[in-house]
Amino acid sequence: MPRPFKYREALLNLLKGNPIHPTVDWIHAQLRRDHPRLSLATTYRTLRTLVAEGTLCELPFGTGESRFGLNLEHKHYHFICDKCQRILDLPIPANNRLERLVQAETGHQVRRHTVEFYGLCWECAAGLVPCTPALRPPRRKEGVE
Ligand SMILES: [Zn+2]
Ligand SMILES: [Zn+2]
Repeated sequence: MPRPFKYREALLNLLKGNPIHPTVDWIHAQLRRDHPRLSLATTYRTLRTLVAEGTLCELPFGTGESRFGLNLEHKHYHFICDKCQRILDLPIPANNRLERLVQAETGHQVRRHTVEFYGLCWECAAGLVPCTPALRPPRRKEGVE
Protein backbone atom coordinates (compact mmCIF):
# COMPACT_ATOMS: atom_id res chain seq x y z
CA MET A 1 0.00 0.00 0.00
CA PRO A 2 1.50 3.39 -0.86
CA ARG A 3 2.53 5.13 2.31
CA PRO A 4 0.35 8.23 1.98
CA PHE A 5 -2.77 6.06 2.34
CA LYS A 6 -1.69 4.77 5.71
CA TYR A 7 -2.78 7.96 7.42
CA ARG A 8 -5.76 8.72 5.25
CA GLU A 9 -8.48 7.64 7.68
CA ALA A 10 -6.79 9.29 10.65
CA LEU A 11 -6.47 12.51 8.71
CA LEU A 12 -10.07 12.51 7.50
CA ASN A 13 -11.34 11.77 11.01
CA LEU A 14 -9.25 14.60 12.40
CA LEU A 15 -10.73 17.05 9.91
CA LYS A 16 -14.24 15.77 10.56
CA GLY A 17 -13.81 16.44 14.26
CA ASN A 18 -12.12 19.81 13.68
CA PRO A 19 -13.88 21.61 10.84
CA ILE A 20 -11.59 24.63 11.09
CA HIS A 21 -9.53 24.24 7.90
CA PRO A 22 -6.23 23.75 9.71
CA THR A 23 -2.69 24.19 8.42
CA VAL A 24 -0.47 21.27 7.51
CA ASP A 25 1.64 22.00 10.63
CA TRP A 26 -1.41 21.80 12.87
CA ILE A 27 -2.59 18.57 11.25
CA HIS A 28 0.86 17.08 11.56
CA ALA A 29 1.13 18.02 15.25
CA GLN A 30 -2.27 16.47 16.03
CA LEU A 31 -1.63 13.24 14.11
CA ARG A 32 1.79 12.81 15.71
CA ARG A 33 0.08 12.14 19.04
CA ASP A 34 -1.11 8.78 17.74
CA HIS A 35 1.48 8.32 15.02
CA PRO A 36 4.81 9.49 16.43
CA ARG A 37 6.75 8.50 13.31
CA LEU A 38 4.61 10.47 10.90
CA SER A 39 6.72 13.04 9.06
CA LEU A 40 5.63 16.43 7.86
CA ALA A 41 6.44 15.38 4.29
CA THR A 42 4.11 12.38 4.51
CA THR A 43 1.38 14.53 6.02
CA TYR A 44 1.77 16.90 3.13
CA ARG A 45 1.74 14.12 0.55
CA THR A 46 -1.40 12.63 2.06
CA LEU A 47 -3.12 16.02 1.97
CA ARG A 48 -2.07 16.54 -1.65
CA THR A 49 -3.48 13.15 -2.63
CA LEU A 50 -6.79 13.88 -0.94
CA VAL A 51 -7.01 17.30 -2.59
CA ALA A 52 -6.21 15.79 -6.00
CA GLU A 53 -9.01 13.25 -5.65
CA GLY A 54 -11.46 15.92 -4.54
CA THR A 55 -11.98 14.71 -0.98
CA LEU A 56 -10.42 17.82 0.50
CA CYS A 57 -10.38 21.43 -0.52
CA GLU A 58 -7.33 23.62 -0.20
CA LEU A 59 -7.71 27.29 0.63
CA PRO A 60 -4.85 29.69 0.05
CA PHE A 61 -4.32 31.71 3.19
CA GLY A 62 -2.13 34.62 4.16
CA THR A 63 1.47 34.32 3.10
CA GLY A 64 1.12 31.34 0.83
CA GLU A 65 0.00 29.13 3.68
CA SER A 66 -2.56 26.52 2.69
CA ARG A 67 -5.50 25.51 4.82
CA PHE A 68 -7.30 22.21 4.33
CA GLY A 69 -10.94 21.28 4.80
CA LEU A 70 -13.38 18.56 3.79
CA ASN A 71 -15.11 19.17 0.51
CA LEU A 72 -18.79 19.55 1.19
CA GLU A 73 -21.50 18.61 -1.25
CA HIS A 74 -22.50 22.20 -1.73
CA LYS A 75 -20.36 25.17 -2.54
CA HIS A 76 -20.02 27.20 0.63
CA TYR A 77 -18.60 30.40 2.01
CA HIS A 78 -16.15 30.76 4.87
CA PHE A 79 -15.87 32.78 8.03
CA ILE A 80 -12.34 33.57 9.18
CA CYS A 81 -11.84 34.51 12.82
CA ASP A 82 -9.28 37.26 13.34
CA LYS A 83 -8.50 35.96 16.81
CA CYS A 84 -8.37 32.15 16.79
CA GLN A 85 -7.75 31.96 13.02
CA ARG A 86 -10.17 29.12 12.52
CA ILE A 87 -11.83 29.06 9.10
CA LEU A 88 -15.40 27.93 9.57
CA ASP A 89 -17.85 26.75 6.91
CA LEU A 90 -20.97 28.89 6.74
CA PRO A 91 -24.39 27.26 6.63
CA ILE A 92 -25.69 29.63 3.99
CA PRO A 93 -25.97 28.70 0.33
CA ALA A 94 -23.61 30.23 -2.23
CA ASN A 95 -25.31 33.02 -4.12
CA ASN A 96 -25.16 32.31 -7.85
CA ARG A 97 -26.98 35.54 -8.61
CA LEU A 98 -23.68 37.29 -7.86
CA GLU A 99 -22.03 35.52 -10.78
CA ARG A 100 -24.85 36.45 -13.13
CA LEU A 101 -24.72 40.04 -11.92
CA VAL A 102 -20.98 40.37 -12.58
CA GLN A 103 -21.35 38.74 -15.97
CA ALA A 104 -24.28 40.96 -16.94
CA GLU A 105 -22.48 44.12 -15.81
CA THR A 106 -19.11 43.39 -17.37
CA GLY A 107 -19.38 40.66 -20.00
CA HIS A 108 -16.73 38.64 -18.15
CA GLN A 109 -17.38 34.93 -18.19
CA VAL A 110 -17.62 34.09 -14.52
CA ARG A 111 -16.71 30.50 -13.71
CA ARG A 112 -16.66 30.56 -9.93
CA HIS A 113 -16.51 32.89 -6.99
CA THR A 114 -15.55 32.82 -3.35
CA VAL A 115 -16.67 35.00 -0.48
CA GLU A 116 -14.91 35.27 2.85
CA PHE A 117 -16.28 36.92 5.96
CA TYR A 118 -13.87 38.16 8.63
CA GLY A 119 -14.40 39.05 12.27
CA LEU A 120 -14.66 37.34 15.61
CA CYS A 121 -16.25 33.91 15.73
CA TRP A 122 -19.09 33.64 18.23
CA GLU A 123 -16.89 31.86 20.75
CA CYS A 124 -14.11 34.45 20.65
CA ALA A 125 -16.71 37.24 20.69
CA ALA A 126 -18.19 35.75 23.87
CA GLY A 127 -14.74 35.55 25.48
CA LEU A 128 -14.78 31.75 25.38
CA VAL A 129 -11.95 29.48 24.38
CA PRO A 130 -13.10 27.91 21.10
CA CYS A 131 -14.25 24.30 21.53
CA THR A 132 -11.99 23.20 18.69
CA PRO A 133 -8.34 24.13 19.23
CA ALA A 134 -7.23 27.44 17.84
CA LEU A 135 -4.49 27.49 15.27
CA ARG A 136 -1.69 28.79 17.39
CA PRO A 137 1.76 27.38 16.69
CA PRO A 138 1.54 23.92 18.29
CA ARG A 139 4.82 23.87 20.22
CA ARG A 140 4.81 27.28 21.81
CA LYS A 141 5.91 27.29 25.44
CA GLU A 142 3.43 27.84 28.26
CA GLY A 143 2.96 31.44 29.24
CA VAL A 144 4.46 32.89 26.07
CA GLU A 145 1.62 34.44 24.17
ZN1 LIG B 1 -12.39 32.71 17.05
ZN1 LIG C 1 -14.87 24.85 3.76
